[in-house]
Amino acid sequence: MPAQLPPLVIDSDSRPYWEGLAQGELRIQRCDACSRYVFYPRAICPHCSSGQLSWVTTTGKGTIYSYTVAHQAFGPFAAEVPFVIAVVELEESVRMMTRIVDAPHEQVHIGAAVHVTFATISEGMTLPYFQLTM
Ligand SMILES: [Zn+2]
Repeated sequence: MPAQLPPLVIDSDSRPYWEGLAQGELRIQRCDACSRYVFYPRAICPHCSSGQLSWVTTTGKGTIYSYTVAHQAFGPFAAEVPFVIAVVELEESVRMMTRIVDAPHEQVHIGAAVHVTFATISEGMTLPYFQLTM
């Protein structure tokens, strides 16, 4: 667990995301106009500029798009090395920066199937991490 993280800044665009995580759901936005998924949370669709975005709950499943193993880290993460930082592509075709947890590092590879797990980092802060799907 990180020793001390800066507090979350929750605004009206991201509130459903954080509330979903606290309830064990990984939510992203979907554009009502062009039907494409959007992540990170925002007010305007990056594909068609529509302001009509709705929240949906993802399957929580995806694949590793890219990853690295951190052997040195600073600040609140220094005591947690080594750990796997990854970009996961969800089934909904959006990518998110995350961690791969509970897996030997040598089993982590690009294209590996993963599923979300929810890590309570501190009071009021739950983050979406991912585990290998065996
Ligand atoms: Zn759109």
